[in-house]
Amino acid sequence: MIKYVVKPLPKVKVKLVSWEEIVDWAWNLAKIIKKDGYKPDVIVALARGGYVPGRLLCDFLDVENLLSIQSQHWTEAAKAEERAIIKFPYKVDLSNYTVLVVDDIVDTGDTLKLARDYVAEHWNPKQLKTAALQWISPVAKFKPDYYYIEVTDWTWFQYPWTRLEDTYQFIKRIVTETYKETGKKEWTYEEMVETFKEWYGIDVGDRYYKDALEILIEKKILEYNEETKKYIYIAG
Ligand code: AMP
Repeated sequence: MIKYVVKPLPKVKVKLVSWEEIVDWAWNLAKIIKKDGYKPDVIVALARGGYVPGRLLCDFLDVENLLSIQSQHWTEAAKAEERAIIKFPYKVDLSNYTVLVVDDIVDTGDTLKLARDYVAEHWNPKQLKTAALQWISPVAKFKPDYYYIEVTDWTWFQYPWTRLEDTYQFIKRIVTETYKETGKKEWTYEEMVETFKEWYGIDVGDRYYKDALEILIEKKILEYNEETKKYIYIAG
């Protein structure tokens, strides 16, 4: 019998963030903004990560006006580097409004900086500030005006609103990397879950593992064999 030695790779530091933590972080962020005396009339939530934080800040800061803009990372064809773009540009006149642009986390800072610059240039706000629940200070090229948590050791924050997306991407990484290392193609459900917990140090629960595996089957990355009850990686 071949014994597969699965390398615990890639070693990404992951933290599972709960809904309760998100409410707590947004509440604390609101307190910081209030203490500074900033009173936004309009919150601009960055799609998609800024939606929940933006909506919670509306509640905690008593803001009625909520707009959104989508800033997305875009890979230029045949180029390794990525740059952020405003996906659906549009114009509104915010010359009578004090504005707060909100995102979940500032990592490279590209997303929030681009959105801030876009709003400043095209929406003409009376005053404009930025806020994020978290700011990864050693890597960010941009510092938000307000943040609650300064992250000094780079971590992937597994937020509740990207749980399924992250889970299927992590599982995809497990099966592709393991195949490259060992040639292993077949996985039982239990093996998959155990490896996920081992690699990423988090447990997202059966609902997410099962839906993530379904998605990977739809995407033709995995196949399910009813007889052996195994998931098979479709290599290449
Ligand atoms: P940025 O690199 O600052 O342009 O980040 C772009 C977006 O990607 C953020 O708004 C998040 O939604 C997501 N993101 C980036 N880094 C992380 C991270 N370390 N943990 C969770 N989400 C992240």
